[in-house]
Amino acid sequence: MTSKAPSNPFRQAEYTLAAHHLHQLPPDTGWEVAIAGRSNAGKSSALNVLTGQKSLARTSKTPGRTQQIVIFRVDDDRRIADLPGYGYAKVPQDLTAHWQQVMQDYFETRESLRGVVLVMDIRHPMKPFDQMMLEWCAATGLPCHVLMTKADKLKRGPAQSALLGVRKILPEGASAQVFSSKSRVGLDQWLAVMRDWYGYPDLDGSGGRSGAD
Ligand code: GDP
Repeated sequence: MTSKAPSNPFRQAEYTLAAHHLHQLPPDTGWEVAIAGRSNAGKSSALNVLTGQKSLARTSKTPGRTQQIVIFRVDDDRRIADLPGYGYAKVPQDLTAHWQQVMQDYFETRESLRGVVLVMDIRHPMKPFDQMMLEWCAATGLPCHVLMTKADKLKRGPAQSALLGVRKILPEGASAQVFSSKSRVGLDQWLAVMRDWYGYPDLDGSGGRSGAD
């Protein structure tokens, strides 16, 4: 790789594996960013827009994969971890309990985890699952960026008030923005957060963290 990262390095993302248990994940080195959200919040669509790949995240939606962490490789050192959508009514209780434990262990032990993108439907933000995610992030000191997606479904005014409402109650270390996979509103803003977390240099070359931590 040259030192000049492409403006959207996530376009080169590719499916690597799906893990039921943490020991199945790739070695815990480099940079990993997790993406989470209630099922139907719009997580797959957001991932597809981020990567410019129409069906990249579909893999993680096939039945049976809903309880797995799906890893997409960005480059040798960088990965996206697609956490399972939460809120399927028919998930057996013991699986849910198992999964909550796996997720909690993941947040607490994954050294390469640099941040969590939490996708919420802008019309239904801050459900219990979202709050649990935010609490785990706060407890482990992880930055969390809330993507309030489907913004195209609201007019600008209500979208902004939803954003301000969420920002007011975010714990320290968390941020939020408006997003739409349909209109691509907010894509540049999200890309900037991702680039920063992954240690890519600023696009204008004026600072930011370098590739090495
Ligand atoms: P996931 O279960 O969180 O991965 O959700 P999906 O990405 O599959 O989206 C659930 C539904 O919401 C699908 O019908 C999508 O087409 C729709 N959707 C997702 N994002 C947007 C968006 O930004 N705008 C609109 N209008 N619909 C969206």
